[in-house]
Amino acid sequence: MSQAALLLYDFCCVALFYCINFIEHLIEVRIINIQISKFKFPNYQIKKMEQAIEQKKSIMDVWGKRPLIISGPCSAESEEQVLETASRLAATGKVDMLRAGIWKPRTRPGSFEGIGVKGLPWLAQAKKLTGLPVAVEVATGKQVQDALNFDVDVLWIGARTTVNPFSVQEVADALRGVDVPVLIKNPINPDLDLWTGAVERVAKAGIKNIGLIHRGFSSYGNTEYRNAPMWHLAIEMKRRNPSMMIICDPSHISGRRDILLDVSQKAIDLDFDGLMIESHIDPDNAWSDAKQQVTPERLLELLGGITWRVESTDAKEFVTALEKLREQINHIDDELMQLIGQRMKIADKIGQYKKDNSITILQTNRWNEILEKAFKKGENLGLSKEFITRYYDAVHMESINHQNKIMNS
Ligand code: PEP
Ligand code: MN
Repeated sequence: MSQAALLLYDFCCVALFYCINFIEHLIEVRIINIQISKFKFPNYQIKKMEQAIEQKKSIMDVWGKRPLIISGPCSAESEEQVLETASRLAATGKVDMLRAGIWKPRTRPGSFEGIGVKGLPWLAQAKKLTGLPVAVEVATGKQVQDALNFDVDVLWIGARTTVNPFSVQEVADALRGVDVPVLIKNPINPDLDLWTGAVERVAKAGIKNIGLIHRGFSSYGNTEYRNAPMWHLAIEMKRRNPSMMIICDPSHISGRRDILLDVSQKAIDLDFDGLMIESHIDPDNAWSDAKQQVTPERLLELLGGITWRVESTDAKEFVTALEKLREQINHIDDELMQLIGQRMKIADKIGQYKKDNSITILQTNRWNEILEKAFKKGENLGLSKEFITRYYDAVHMESINHQNKIMNS
């Protein structure tokens, strides 16, 4: 073939490629318009959705956004429900990613266990319709493959999976060679090593973008929360993984709508990187987690009610004032440490005395007396009963250990 013929051939190929792309684009726009008109959204909402589609960001742009807001139904139930939720969420202009459970690990059998693979095309459609990237929970290798076949952008490992190293390993194996961001929820039990183990397994599979989700921990009996937040554990996990994103899931911590704002505010005050909050077009009739879901419009109000804070600022006045206050705190902490040291020296003496007189270390009455007095004093000083109990427990245990050493020496 002559040089000119080759050039003409190349030109035709490229032209054909662009023609096909253009036709695909027209079809896509048409499908999107049909979807939008089906739900009869007000003009301003359609405008926002069209803007989102136009600005279609890469998943890494979204992943890096702070605060990152993920929302969507606990479970995908029907095509209409997924598309309408997605559209109404996109219309808020505040949501960065759509979540939906496709496979639901329910605590008890007989509850709705997820729509399964059938729901994945609905999410793909929701993504086309709104421009929002989508996230689903995966618990098996097969679920990873199915989700990736339908272009799911982010996968998350649920609390009931993080507890099981076999399952986490299966998910990690299916992720090998794949470039997809993964969020890992804390295990249902308060065990940071299990959480860390899941992170390590996924990281070892070659996943570069890993984030954490704090969704609280199971406890026995009725408490204010569905899953106790145990904030100190999330803070410790954050301390151990300083460069890893950590977001909070107030829905599964709260288990009910009325405390979602409080829990969200607490997470933002603790410098979490974002929130995952469940939303539904008809929360009371949701097929799972009905009590904790909110409508997209209520979500917008809720997000508007949060005081957003930043970790630090360069403003000089603020920095100097903060430094002064921190110096005072350091000074007081120092004194406290000295005092506790002195207290332990006295405990040692008591230990010696008890040893000489063959008396047990623990005298329950004495201990109850100390606690009761402390509660009363603490109340006047604005200290919570919970703090006083924990503080005295820690001091008491240290004291017992000291005495134990003396008595057994
Ligand atoms: C969920 O996000 O719907 C879910 C099942 O959460 P968790 O794994 O936190 O229970
Ligand atoms: Mn849920």
